[in-house]
Amino acid sequence: MATDVHEGIKTKVIIVGAGISGISTAEFLVRNGFTDFKILEASDRIGGRIWTYDIEGKDFRIELGANWIHGIERNPIYTIADENGLLQLRYKDKGLRHRNVFVTESGEEVSAKIVKECDFTYGLLIQQCEDFYQMDIPLPYDTDSVGEYMKEEIEGKLENYSDEEKRLRSMIFSQHLKQETVVSGCNDLCDVSLSEFGCYEELPGVHYTIPPGFQSVLDILLSKVPQENIELDHQVKCIHWDKPENDSYLIVECNNGKKFYAEHVILTVSLGVLKNSHDLFNPPLPKEKIEAVDKLGFGTVDKINLFFDEPIVESDVFRLELLWDDDKHKEQGRNPVDLANSWYRKIYSFEVTHENVVTGWLCGKEAIYMESLSEEQIAEDCRNVLQKFLKKDIPLPSKVIRTKWGDSDTTKGSYCYIKVGASVQDVISLGEPIIDGNQKPVIMFAGEATHPSFYSTTHGALLTGHREAKRILDYTNYSQKATNYSQKGANYSQKGANYCQKAAN
Ligand SMILES: Cc1cc2nc3c(=O)[nH]c(=O)nc-3n(C[C@H](O)[C@H](O)[C@H](O)COP(=O)(O)OP(=O)(O)OC[C@H]3O[C@@H](n4cnc5c(N)ncnc54)[C@H](O)[C@@H]3O)c2cc1C
Repeated sequence: MATDVHEGIKTKVIIVGAGISGISTAEFLVRNGFTDFKILEASDRIGGRIWTYDIEGKDFRIELGANWIHGIERNPIYTIADENGLLQLRYKDKGLRHRNVFVTESGEEVSAKIVKECDFTYGLLIQQCEDFYQMDIPLPYDTDSVGEYMKEEIEGKLENYSDEEKRLRSMIFSQHLKQETVVSGCNDLCDVSLSEFGCYEELPGVHYTIPPGFQSVLDILLSKVPQENIELDHQVKCIHWDKPENDSYLIVECNNGKKFYAEHVILTVSLGVLKNSHDLFNPPLPKEKIEAVDKLGFGTVDKINLFFDEPIVESDVFRLELLWDDDKHKEQGRNPVDLANSWYRKIYSFEVTHENVVTGWLCGKEAIYMESLSEEQIAEDCRNVLQKFLKKDIPLPSKVIRTKWGDSDTTKGSYCYIKVGASVQDVISLGEPIIDGNQKPVIMFAGEATHPSFYSTTHGALLTGHREAKRILDYTNYSQKATNYSQKGANYSQKGANYCQKAAN
């Protein structure tokens, strides 16, 4: 139970951040009878990078952050969604939309046969990228970069085609690579480490969206956490952790002037926040921790939702895949760094997310540039793109809702990846607790960027919350009660341990 002390509040544990890792930490603690904690959240909203947004006057919502449950088997997000009936309506809005149409800049649709051939080759190449880590294969080139490897290999695969066929296929590969850039969360695949690419584990099963919204998964966890344990609008300014007052308390100081005294702090803020908050710790974090923060990559991925008064594509089209001719763009001497006239070339598709709404994704410096534009400018640029690819007049969208994850003070980007020069060992180091001389974990780290195989995902974030909650329970002798539940978590820890082992070898 938190109690007031002189000018601050005393509690056993402070959890910094009310994203899914913070909320899952709290839910796990409560489930095991431990309620002496407070969650301090900087913003006025719970969810962090899960953000389901209700559209005024419409009976649907859009996801500004997490979108899909990535896989089924061993995915705790899927389990929560399934057990609570959140997936039942998943086909309701889709209707008969099933066709993904690949179109060139001049509005020509590419044959499904060619797309399928390229898909197959691309799938094999991505699998090869994963094999370097998973099968411990030495790298074939001097460079440890997914982008360079894919470029070399794709060039080899296209060698025997005529110029015309080569150009078409390269546009398809380039579209796939832009999508992979978003999936990886980087600016360019040349930034992503080839030797570590395979440490991200894909869970088996399809990728589901959640019709009532991703927020509803969070709400289920949240319903178990006492409301009074959560403080919104409490941005943590500094964690004083070296010689805490009374010897056993850390002091957590907020921007609003409030102070909290705690024995343990669990930090769940994004890697982007860690990279940009040099004064968050007094004294600074140990050298290994700072190195891990610096070495790992954290990119910006954004979405643009365009609202029209009526559907703009045929009734069976689910996704319009955009085949930009980037080689021609370069040949024509267009300067690719002129972002005002090229940012939208990073959008690789528009997906019909509701009958009259299409959503495009983009990442990296183009996404950051897009965040600086007015909605009117985005509407006009995207309308021009759609007009070109659909080869017909398209009205200006009546509404644009775009994200600004790069500009957000509370995330400073979207999700993490293993950058060239970093390794999974850095993810593991980031997730390790700071322990005092009495073996007490004083500062613990959770959040997507601390999971060695599920980084960048909601399920990864949730499991790191369980990991740190269990650490607290173990330390404070609540472990007996936690055993039953943590059996499940133990499988994941085992997996993490295997990765550590592998990294150590
Ligand atoms: C555009 C986008 C699409 C995505 N798509 C998917 C997807 O399809 N599937 C999937 O599984 N994952 C997806 N993700 C990733 C997923 O959303 C994240 O991995 C996950 O939500 C991270 O949760 P977290 O708790 O680690 O961090 P966060 O959600 O970032 O929570 C951290 C919290 O800390 C708070 N905070 C920050 N600084 C402070 C401070 N100083 N003091 C107090 N509080 C602070 C923040 O406000 C935030 O609420 C996507 C993310 C984005 C941005």
